Amino acid sequence: MIAAYVGLGANLGDLRHTLETALADLADVTSVQLERVSSAWRSAPVDSDGPDYLNAVARVRTDLPPLTLLAALQAIESRHGRERPYRNAPRTLDLDLLLYGDQTVDLDRLSVPHPRLHQRAFVLRPLLELDPALSAPGLGLLADFLSATADQVLQRETLPLRPPHAGL
Ligand code: ATP
Ligand code: CA
Ligand code: CA
Repeated sequence: MIAAYVGLGANLGDLRHTLETALADLADVTSVQLERVSSAWRSAPVDSDGPDYLNAVARVRTDLPPLTLLAALQAIESRHGRERPYRNAPRTLDLDLLLYGDQTVDLDRLSVPHPRLHQRAFVLRPLLELDPALSAPGLGLLADFLSATADQVLQRETLPLRPPHAGL
């Protein structure tokens, strides 16, 4: 079993409901166990536009290969009405495969670690909340990248995400 980290983001619709149901969907994927979920973090769009984002990170255990896990994430996005009208468009749901154990994947369809994870406070903060000592192949200790993202305004929500029936 591999420990993988999945980033969740939404900025259209009922953000909390979307993240909670997406987490339940993730827990329902065969051969994926949802282990832990970060707090929800609210932020203004960085590379994107539109309303504020709600982001979170989930740690899963899986024996699915990385491309199969990605396909499962994309299927969940589609069920939540994800459309891609243009790059960085507002989205109902975005699921990114951030880390897949200590493995590196370098394909057109999949880059792991996610190539921009160390530049984004909305990814780093929830990742480090789950595992403060987390490191990534090619990057090293993720905590070392926090100071470079300190100008990105981010708010941790006190109300935890509660995925229905996810068995957490
Ligand atoms: P960003 O990658 O900067 O977060 P985005 O999430 O908005 O941008 P998408 O439109 O969701 O980008 O995805 C574009 C493509 O990225 C997808 O079709 C997918 O094949 C590819 N991709 C590459 N690496 C990953 C990854 N680690 N997780 C998810 N998708 C990835
Ligand atoms: Ca993304
Ligand atoms: Ca994505």
